[in-house]
Amino acid sequence: MLTQQPTRPFCENCKISLAKPNGISKHKFKQWHKYCVQCSKAMYNTQYGYLLHKKSKCDKCNFLPEDNCQLDLVYVDGNKKNKSVKNMLTLCANCNRVHQKKLKEKNKSILDITVDADVTI
Ligand SMILES: [Zn+2]
Ligand SMILES: [Zn+2]
Repeated sequence: MLTQQPTRPFCENCKISLAKPNGISKHKFKQWHKYCVQCSKAMYNTQYGYLLHKKSKCDKCNFLPEDNCQLDLVYVDGNKKNKSVKNMLTLCANCNRVHQKKLKEKNKSILDITVDADVTI
């Protein structure tokens, strides 16, 4: 039996984010889930299973986040339907911004042939 409120644990899967709240016990203590919001979503909803491809650090600069929200799971080719491991990259918010810009430039260069010649893709 619990005699005092346990501290909120970290998610057992990603070990980055704090565990998701899981109601109040009969002794009026807050209970915590094993996983954080994002991991439990990935574990229990096959539609979000791809979220488990998310790593604990940035694939590009090896940035270690304080919280999972600083990392994004991005699609290498920009195609959100392609959820294969190979098409998934874990990027920090900073690297993701560059990634999104490059994707835009890439798409633009296909549509717009007058795109600046010095844009590197
Ligand atoms: Zn987690
Ligand atoms: Zn990064």
